Amino acid sequence: MIFKLNQLIMFVLILLINGCSSVGKLGDNQSNLFDKQNYLTHVKTLASDEFGGRAPATPGGELTVSYLEDNFKALGLEPAFGANGYRQPVSLMVISTDEDIGLELTTESKIKTTLAYKDEMIAWTRRPVEQASISDSELVFVGYGVVAPEYNWNDYAGLDMRGKTAVILVNDPGYLSGDDAFFNGKAMTYYGRWTYKFEEAARQGAAGAIVVHQTGAAGYPWGVVSGSWSGPQYHLLDAGDAPLAQVEGWITEASAVNLFANAGQDFAALVEQAGKAGFTPRSLNTSASITLNNTIAQSDSYNVGAMLPGSKNPDEYFIYTGHWDHMGTDESNTEGDNIYNGAVDNATGTAALLELARVFASQAQRPERSLLFLAVTAEESGLLGSAAYVEKPAVPLNKTVAGINMDGMSVYGASNDVVVIGWDASDLQDYMTRAAASQDRILVREPTPEKGFFYRSDHFNFAKKGVPMMYAEAGNDIRGKGVEWGKQQQADYTANRYHKPGDEYDESWDISGIFQDLEMNYLVAQEILNSDDWPEWRPGNEFRKIREASLAATP
Ligand SMILES: [Zn+2]
Repeated sequence: MIFKLNQLIMFVLILLINGCSSVGKLGDNQSNLFDKQNYLTHVKTLASDEFGGRAPATPGGELTVSYLEDNFKALGLEPAFGANGYRQPVSLMVISTDEDIGLELTTESKIKTTLAYKDEMIAWTRRPVEQASISDSELVFVGYGVVAPEYNWNDYAGLDMRGKTAVILVNDPGYLSGDDAFFNGKAMTYYGRWTYKFEEAARQGAAGAIVVHQTGAAGYPWGVVSGSWSGPQYHLLDAGDAPLAQVEGWITEASAVNLFANAGQDFAALVEQAGKAGFTPRSLNTSASITLNNTIAQSDSYNVGAMLPGSKNPDEYFIYTGHWDHMGTDESNTEGDNIYNGAVDNATGTAALLELARVFASQAQRPERSLLFLAVTAEESGLLGSAAYVEKPAVPLNKTVAGINMDGMSVYGASNDVVVIGWDASDLQDYMTRAAASQDRILVREPTPEKGFFYRSDHFNFAKKGVPMMYAEAGNDIRGKGVEWGKQQQADYTANRYHKPGDEYDESWDISGIFQDLEMNYLVAQEILNSDDWPEWRPGNEFRKIREASLAATP
């Protein structure tokens, strides 16, 4: 009897303990879960000159992969990738296009113009071919090039795009509307992102896809477009079976104005129509030709992943992600510092992944669901490692309950706020609101949603496949220093160190904001790991239907 009573008391105690940990508030003792020295050792190592800026498929990249692998192994975590152990091979294809090219345009009345490479247009192919071309391909203006059933919107309605080239506006119909209920208003939806434009045009069977650059709508000037898409371009060797157009590219707004005028159309008027219901696509009565000659090389890199099996629902997973790669060493620069150490971007997030892994692995009580820690490669080349992962996930995506991505964490000190990239996209925001509240922090919107930052780091590839993901980090409202000071620090980083050799470890960093984030990200995961809840995308979110279909499918 007494024995049984003890059992009952133990049972109640366990319930209480579980109850507490699943609601989640870290006491003073628990906040010591995370080890500052341990964390900084990871950051300093990953950001060291020895690691050479961690470019994929370089000696520094290989050092990084081994470092992650060794750490996961030492923690006793299980390899995520079966026979490949902790490594998931990611084969990269590098395409270099001869730059001696132009986009030839011919109107029905035989007006010929040639748009100059880099100055007026940029073009490439993602097909692994030595030559790709469009020849006398009819140009069709398709507005924003969006097919969005949830908004009852189809810019390709009634069109047969085979052999033709779509001319497409960047951003989405909500951009100019000022109506928050219409394509999320000024905040960019995925339909506004250039990646979507090329995907949709290819799904429609188009031979070519050309996006018209407008600085406001794109969120960056033409120089970013011409700089990013010239020189060697990295792609996945195995990009899945999604269709690809022969030729993709951008043209400047001035070139578009001319093109439309030569075709007897008013560009500005059509931009306005494109954002309104009732817009119909139209031929520009102009044909386009271009031939791309390519040199193709292949190189191999790796995602690195480890698992901690759950105690009750081991086939359901929470995932933490962070990209380990950065921009490497610029061998052509023989004077001064040529190593892009990527200390903030993203040694901080990779170290966070390792520190979270250490804390979870060392806990006496395992969470009920499983954990997956995934450090991905080639983020800086276009989110390629995470794209490769979601094509061949270690565990089914419809068993991946939710996740958190960490990329470029705050080194300015403890904050009062947490900036959410992708405001109110999913139920995960409620979990994070509770976790942040236990630290006396509040969640705030990222201030420039029209720039589409939600679509610019690895969480996005998971979202695209329906997995709810959160991307949020300590904000600018730094305790004891204030918002203006925080903004100055952030602006100074963006101007002077972001994607530059100066992104190095600095003794003056205050990583207490990172430690707040580690705790917060820990609490969010704990609550989900020890529940049967399946956080969902909010009603109306563009990923909700994808998730519903994914969950309905057999694994
Ligand atoms: Zn990054």
